[in-house]
Amino acid sequence: KKKPSSFDPSEVACWEKDKPVPFLLLSLAFDMIDAESGRIVMTDIVCNLLRTVIHVAPEDLVSVVYLSANRIAPAHVGLELGIGDASIIKALAEAYGRTEKQIKNQYKEKGDLGLVAKASRSSQSMMRKPEPLTITKVFNTFHLIAKESGKDSQEKKKNHIKSLLVAAIDCEPLYIIRLLQSKLRIGYAEQTLLAALGHAAVYSEEHSKPPPEIQSPYEEAAKIVKKVYSVLPDYDKIVSALLSHGVWELPKKCDFTPGVPVGPMLSKATKGVAEILNKFQDVEFTCEYKYDGERAQIHYLENGTVEIYSRNAERNTGKFPDVVAAVSRLKKTTVSSFILDCELVAYDRAKQRILPFQVLSTRARKNVSVSDIKVEVCIFAFDLLYLNGQALLQENLKIRREHLYGSFEEETGFFQFATTTTSNDVEEIQKFLDEAIDASCEGLIIKTLHEDATYEPSKRSLNWLKLKKDYMDNIGDSLDLVPIGAFAGRGKRTGVYGAFLLACYDTDREEFQSLCKIGTGFTENVLEERSTSLGSKVIPKPKSYYQYGESVKPDVWFEASEVWEVKAADLTISPVYRAAMGTVDPNKGISLRFPRLLRVRPDKAPEQASSSEQIAEMYKAQKHNHNDIQDARQND
Ligand code: ATP
Repeated sequence: KKKPSSFDPSEVACWEKDKPVPFLLLSLAFDMIDAESGRIVMTDIVCNLLRTVIHVAPEDLVSVVYLSANRIAPAHVGLELGIGDASIIKALAEAYGRTEKQIKNQYKEKGDLGLVAKASRSSQSMMRKPEPLTITKVFNTFHLIAKESGKDSQEKKKNHIKSLLVAAIDCEPLYIIRLLQSKLRIGYAEQTLLAALGHAAVYSEEHSKPPPEIQSPYEEAAKIVKKVYSVLPDYDKIVSALLSHGVWELPKKCDFTPGVPVGPMLSKATKGVAEILNKFQDVEFTCEYKYDGERAQIHYLENGTVEIYSRNAERNTGKFPDVVAAVSRLKKTTVSSFILDCELVAYDRAKQRILPFQVLSTRARKNVSVSDIKVEVCIFAFDLLYLNGQALLQENLKIRREHLYGSFEEETGFFQFATTTTSNDVEEIQKFLDEAIDASCEGLIIKTLHEDATYEPSKRSLNWLKLKKDYMDNIGDSLDLVPIGAFAGRGKRTGVYGAFLLACYDTDREEFQSLCKIGTGFTENVLEERSTSLGSKVIPKPKSYYQYGESVKPDVWFEASEVWEVKAADLTISPVYRAAMGTVDPNKGISLRFPRLLRVRPDKAPEQASSSEQIAEMYKAQKHNHNDIQDARQND
């Protein structure tokens, strides 16, 4: 493998200038990224790839960007490839003249159908060299696969896959299969792609020079692309605007659009009312119940269409026909379009009470019909981002709330505004917190009302602080962690894993860092479920982007695939674990004491796990608190 700095796309074997971009170019770039672990180098490789495409075949840029993001369409479009291992195995067997049994055996050994595909291709002698696969061909075939439905669709999908595999050479089969499985496994996240797109745009800038006030154009361009993507996560629109108007004009050309979900604003954890009062000393703020359900962004378009998007921008409309009916019925007649931010919560209408999150998670996920619904849902509305053709993101919460209250009728058990109070008295807030817990909520979210109170898409903002009941006893918040390995079970637990190695995610370094071992909080059933589900994610060796100490080596490693919500007693400095190493101690990481599993979080991707930065912040906050207690004792 060559050094990325000498990555010269013209050396790619089948490259001919002014011809469509070969898929091999992208595959080789993936190979190079896989061999790297540093984010800067990875960004460079992707940037070189993108600027080449912009220069030579700009019409292919959007397909290259989608494939690099391992997507075929924006998440909210809901276009899914819908293929299982069985179809891939069949396609591999037919394309490469092997039996399904041989493929399955090799899959067991290698743990990755992509590697099986690559090995199968390289051991097959080719009579003649196939026509090179182009990016467009691969991307269009992926769309054909996604659109096949109904009778014989699996057979048709298999045939499409086979047509790609037959034409694939070198490392192409590996990445075709991994892309089809939505598991690129090369350790780079979408933020790298967005930064690289910004850098490539600056290199290729024909439209305008950067405005004179911009000191570091590459950094600035990366920031612009990331920000634009958080309000308009749609590569078709972004790439087209980028090519026609350049990166500096992008924010003007790609604004927030109803029908495309914006990244939801998120909150930071705090340890108690005193900390909140401290942080919000001179600003007006409000407290709201923190409901425990599912975040939803509901879009109501001028033509009467309603769409519901999840925390991850996925289209959830088919799951909640009752919510669609409720918002359509309860919006006031003066309202012609809106985007509502809310929590959908399981609700017992007969007893007029909120039900736990676990009840909500039993609802079917797709094509639900109103008559089949067993778990009723109440919409708890807390924000309004768009109303009657006007974006409200730049307005402060006070104004957004006035619009919210003026736009809907409340109806108990169907649509309610989040319960709220405005006070800066410790006792009153404490009492409000107790009331929230009594009403089956998780705690409170405290929000700035007037100053610094705009809606910040995709941001974990200091202007929204969460406060949970057990903050005072335990560490500030539960953590969302990723199992990356497991230790064999002993005694009663033989046959299932006995304990798991959990990791947090370092967003800067784009790596998973070990944090603790967990073996408690599991019922037998849950342990079995997790063992089965992770059993299919076993990999032969840890990824280059896993950081772990040599002394904690699990018996098996997993691909980062699930997020678990975990509670712990406290955080400690550890010579053994690697979380946030270098932040609080140059050679030691942070670990959790007495971690226990609360639940699995299917609404989060591994890269959305708790970050090393958050963990370091929690550790520092805890230390601060301990010092306060010690100071108080000494003063006594
Ligand atoms: P958590 O595990 O605590 O839900 P999270 O990472 O999903 O964390 P946070 O930013 O910590 O998200 O908490 C915000 C979440 O709380 C929102 O995504 C939303 O689903 C939920 N929520 C419930 N009530 C409210 C409210 N009144 N305002 C904002 N968010 C609320």
